[in-house]
Amino acid sequence: MNAATTALLDQADAAVTQSLNAFRVFAEHINGTIGAAIPGPVAQHFLTQLHDGIHAGAIGFCHHLSPAAPEPTFWAPWAAGKVRCKTCMTYAYERVSRTTENHRCDRCRRRAITMHTTGVQLPAVVLDLPTRPLSLPPIAVTYGLCSTCHESDRTAV
Ligand SMILES: [Zn+2]
Ligand SMILES: [Zn+2]
Repeated sequence: MNAATTALLDQADAAVTQSLNAFRVFAEHINGTIGAAIPGPVAQHFLTQLHDGIHAGAIGFCHHLSPAAPEPTFWAPWAAGKVRCKTCMTYAYERVSRTTENHRCDRCRRRAITMHTTGVQLPAVVLDLPTRPLSLPPIAVTYGLCSTCHESDRTAV
């Protein structure tokens, strides 16, 4: 493995650690928890949407992100067009924070008073290509569910 790939792997590792720490802080902020688990059917639905969207070119990356410099990134189904850096995701949150979208289930689209914030942390991926190494950044996938969809995601594995 060449020095550029080793350096990119180190940077990707640091980005994953930073992303997991931010995930943990966010979970504590909303009195939640994090842990390892097999994604439920709702999580699998969103991960498939993200995967297929990236492969089809329907989901892009905000212009701050570079495959040569992995950093923590974010994707949410209510702003599905892009994987975003922290700054761009903060703007996206601010746009919906006082709208009805903030109380609409991301899976069934019904309005709900009680929303269950849920998320999946994806690791970074480094590709050791012949020309130069490239990285897909770690992606925090977060979404809000109504109680019914939240329960179906937890029980049907
Ligand atoms: Zn950005
Ligand atoms: Zn729902």
